[in-house]
Amino acid sequence: MPTYKIAVLAGDGIGQEVTPEAQRVLEVVGKATGASFEFEPGLAGGAAIDATGGPLPESSLRLCEQSDAILFGAVGGPRWDTLPQESRPERGLLRIRKELDLFANLRPAKCFPMLVDASPLKRSVVEGTDLMVVRELTGGLYFGEPRGREEFADGSERAVNTMAYTSREIERVVRAAFDVAMKRKRRLASVDKANVLVVSQLWREVVTRVARDYPQVAVEHVLVDNCAMALVNRPTQFDTIVTENTFGDILSDEAAILAGSMGMLPSASLGGRVGLYEPVHGTAPDIAGKGLANPIAAILSAAMLLRYSLDRGPDADRVEAAVLRVLEQGHRTGDIAAGGQKTVGTREMGDLIAREVERAY
Ligand code: NAD
Repeated sequence: MPTYKIAVLAGDGIGQEVTPEAQRVLEVVGKATGASFEFEPGLAGGAAIDATGGPLPESSLRLCEQSDAILFGAVGGPRWDTLPQESRPERGLLRIRKELDLFANLRPAKCFPMLVDASPLKRSVVEGTDLMVVRELTGGLYFGEPRGREEFADGSERAVNTMAYTSREIERVVRAAFDVAMKRKRRLASVDKANVLVVSQLWREVVTRVARDYPQVAVEHVLVDNCAMALVNRPTQFDTIVTENTFGDILSDEAAILAGSMGMLPSASLGGRVGLYEPVHGTAPDIAGKGLANPIAAILSAAMLLRYSLDRGPDADRVEAAVLRVLEQGHRTGDIAAGGQKTVGTREMGDLIAREVERAY
């Protein structure tokens, strides 16, 4: 039976509360299947700053590099907001992404049938939405050179950022997206602005070339402005979306609101040998320490870990189905409860899901 080493970086705030629930669900999967999970905790974010002076100690980075996957919580909080940019908690996460070459960010947006009314969109539009945005994470406008500001003699200024991609950078994220599409409904929408941007024209050429290696996947090219409209107009038309960094940043947040609550949204960052799995939400200082946080985003991140890092799709299916069943039974944390509905806390929601996972075997 396989042994998996999982680095657990819970971080700060509700990261400390939801991550143990995700770990518990993996333990249940291990018990039911005979697979052995070894969880190794590491410091990251504000907790690491308090203990070691920096947001990511070398020991945490080494732990991540030597693991099969990383279960991450969230980092940051008002306590560390006054620190200079380069020593803030978020730097720890950026460093892991860079050191582990995590260039593909996977953000699913799924509308759960029983939570349709929590979505800001009409039921008729949003019902059945189940899509995945694959965003390039390490290139494009946020990193391209030249970048900076200059001042002219008359006191006016000019600022520059550059959207630049090599064909190699495009190809590796596009291949990752095709692989994701192969595990889903085999439909891929590549989003660009090829009618205006030269970078997008190269992007489109690379997608067309890589598509020849995936004849089972139906590919379409969608302009980013059209995609932004279609996401709120006909979100069910999408299965897997792949796009560059800036477009992906905006579109993945737009897709996120379809699901209703931050507490429901998992993510994965893939690329190098080790993948990182984390809820999309932050440390929620307003509810941290109260046992109120919704652990579902963290638990669904653990399901993604099973699917994408350990290639245990059927176990991931069981975890996702267990979440669905608990919601069907009417259990809700505060963030997803309708007016007057009884709510449960973080621990109890984790218990309910862990029990359903156990029953699924
Ligand atoms: P947030 O996601 O922490 O919270 C936004 C709102 O959503 C809050 O009202 C919060 O209570 C609610 N919420 C979020 N997750 C929830 C959950 N699981 N259950 C119930 N309610 C939930 O975003 P923010 O308030 O903008 O940021 C707070 C801190 O988190 C900041 O320091 C920020 O830098 C950090 N942050 C970290 C990450 C990360 O580690 N990847 C991501 C985003 C924000």
